Amino acid sequence: IYIAGGLQSAVMFLVNAGSTLLVSLGVVLDRLAEVCADEPSTTPARSSTSPLDGYDMRLQRVTFGYSQHARPVVHNLSIDVPEGTHLAVVGPSGAGKSTLANLLAGLTEPQHGQILLDGGELGCIDEQQLRREIALIPQDAYVFAGTVRENLTYLRPDATTEALDDAVAAVGAGETLARLGGYEATIPAGGEGLSPAERQLIALARVYLCPARVVILDEATCHLDPAAEALAEHGFARRPGTLIVIAHRISSAERADRILLFSGTTPEVGTHDDLLARSDLYAELVGYWRDEHRARHTDEAEPEAS
Ligand code: ADP
Ligand code: MG
Repeated sequence: IYIAGGLQSAVMFLVNAGSTLLVSLGVVLDRLAEVCADEPSTTPARSSTSPLDGYDMRLQRVTFGYSQHARPVVHNLSIDVPEGTHLAVVGPSGAGKSTLANLLAGLTEPQHGQILLDGGELGCIDEQQLRREIALIPQDAYVFAGTVRENLTYLRPDATTEALDDAVAAVGAGETLARLGGYEATIPAGGEGLSPAERQLIALARVYLCPARVVILDEATCHLDPAAEALAEHGFARRPGTLIVIAHRISSAERADRILLFSGTTPEVGTHDDLLARSDLYAELVGYWRDEHRARHTDEAEPEAS
């Protein structure tokens, strides 16, 4: 209201001023654009590298599509993820969960709407700072040629051996570490000789150790067995900060404080019991996961059976 009033007086003044009207009106409109950009109700201006006070995340009417012609993968999504939340994201394959994970990590930018971290748009935060604040582990865990220690401390080069030990224990990577031959053992290029599960455990320990206060696991435990997955997720849940898990199994969703059911249509948020009671799609997913689990369990229990 103040701004609108100010503009009105300025325009009245300029109208009276006559000949300078067009040039000066342009200046006023430029100034108004600046004022609007600074308006606290949208995105507060902030020096892009300033430290954050907190890690509340907010998606406001976020829309993203890979092509202008196709239907957007994320459509008009609004959700709050307060600091410290343990959120699970579930949905059918192809629903857009990884796309959402990339948006939340600031790796892709929405075409419409905003993603805010501590009240500032992700896109306005210095790239290096953003990589320090938000860590994403994709499904294909990454290890590189070097020692195990180098692989683990990549995101926190000053980590002590005690901190490494803690991270390894927290995610359940102790056996993997021992099998590889300890921190000074060498991992060959492409992680050759490591199983997909071992690669995932190295990546999990690396991110556990890093300073990020928002961690996103995009099916980052899919090669672990359910017990190892539970151990790793419990470890991350005790770590300070926000945990967003793109769930690969029903158990991951059950462990979360809140679940975002993401199906490409209207997203729903609730606890496991809420969603089970009110969403057919969620009940269907749970049924599918249970069947899959039972099938695998039967295979393991009766390897000789045909
Ligand atoms: P989910 O992780 O839930 O399986 P994704 O986010 O990977 O789903 O994919 C959502 C949709 O976006 C799918 O239809 C997929 O084919 C499409 N998609 C994903 N990545 C790309 C890309 N890089 N370019 C074009 N389309 C993509
Ligand atoms: Mg995915």
